Amino acid sequence: MSKTLKIFLAWLLLIGFAVPSPAYSTQFADSGETLRLHWAAKLIPIAFSNSLLKPNPYIKPDSDIQGAIERSLEAWEKAADIKFQVSWTDKQTISPTGKSGDGVSLVTIAQTPENLLMFGEDANTVSARTRIFFNRKGYINEADIVLNPYEQFSTDGSFGTFDFEATLIHEIGHLLGLDHSSVTGATMHEHQGKNGVYNLPAFSSRTLAEDDLAGIRAIYGASSAEDDCCGTLAGKLSQAGGKGAKNFQVWAEEAESGRLAAGVLTNADGVYRVEGLQSGQYRVYTQDFGGEIGKSFSVEELGAVNIVTGKNQTISKKLKSSTKDFDVRYVGFNAQVSELAVPVNGGKSYLIYVGGKNLDSNIVSIGFNSPYISVTPKSLTDHKYGGDISVISFEVNVAPETPLGEYSFFIKSESGAAEFAVGSLTVETFVNSWNSHLLSLRD
Ligand SMILES: [Zn+2]
Repeated sequence: MSKTLKIFLAWLLLIGFAVPSPAYSTQFADSGETLRLHWAAKLIPIAFSNSLLKPNPYIKPDSDIQGAIERSLEAWEKAADIKFQVSWTDKQTISPTGKSGDGVSLVTIAQTPENLLMFGEDANTVSARTRIFFNRKGYINEADIVLNPYEQFSTDGSFGTFDFEATLIHEIGHLLGLDHSSVTGATMHEHQGKNGVYNLPAFSSRTLAEDDLAGIRAIYGASSAEDDCCGTLAGKLSQAGGKGAKNFQVWAEEAESGRLAAGVLTNADGVYRVEGLQSGQYRVYTQDFGGEIGKSFSVEELGAVNIVTGKNQTISKKLKSSTKDFDVRYVGFNAQVSELAVPVNGGKSYLIYVGGKNLDSNIVSIGFNSPYISVTPKSLTDHKYGGDISVISFEVNVAPETPLGEYSFFIKSESGAAEFAVGSLTVETFVNSWNSHLLSLRD
């Protein structure tokens, strides 16, 4: 096999939300972010339009729509102290924008004028959108979901279609008050791939990540089955000059397994707050999110923390603000790079790609904090990509007993600067049957 593998950027579509913004974060009714959007009652009514079940060009025939709906709702119910009250309706069209809607929280795929208006010029870039109505106190009284009828959905992994379940579970997260997550691999991450990215079905988002679970527990509290939840980690990060470290990613990983627990972004003042954490030991890190080479800052470990149910822990720090001489933008698999996490299975080895700027296997090294995942020594290989994007690959070995969930790897340069690809590898139950072919690559 040739060493100069042609790598291409996998296309991605955004999972739409009317007011795009980053983080695990929750939505707020006010700009000061004091009034968190949430349903007042623990029983949340949701009405599914018959348009989802009638034969239509937007859903592949024989898709398991009922099953996908049930699993999506159950996943959120299991995660937090909420229940859904499900009904079916002939209603097709969501409520237009305004102070209030019609009181029905509708999920629909019907091609009606009002539904199509949700997408506007984004009809080819967004798979679904959610419109939320709330009052001044932050109570949600209606949330409508439109699956984009310009696209096609399926439940069997059909190439080129969106996975219905992965899309719906994400939109229900918005309906409940969650915003987008900065964690790659989280169901609430803003990017969704169609089936076929990495030559795999796009099933990863069907499973809620620990980050999604922490987010929903932050709003509604844990479901009654969980007695070791929840604690909070909060603090303020400032840069060398004393200014708040704005738009920094802060994340906690389980100290023992290295599995990602939750990640948030700092606000304009450098303040962050990770709620919904289960009790236990964590390592906490921060890095500049979405910065540029020479301007963005290297990762820093904020320390170890013991989270205790019902307690607040604080880690505040003045950051060293040391700049990075490289940048990580994409991860990849099967000669494609994208902003989607790579799904893997325990007990196998895979060839993983990382793309960005100034990535050179002579200068950088790659590793995992998890004792379950290792990088094969000397497996780093440079690939031609073109433009100013550089791509390197490496082989990872995932131990059979690796707990399901998201893991991060770090890239470190000779200068000591480092960056984490946060949550970029997701250990899944659905089968990724590809294996690495490292030996032939080395020939
Ligand atoms: Zn979204």
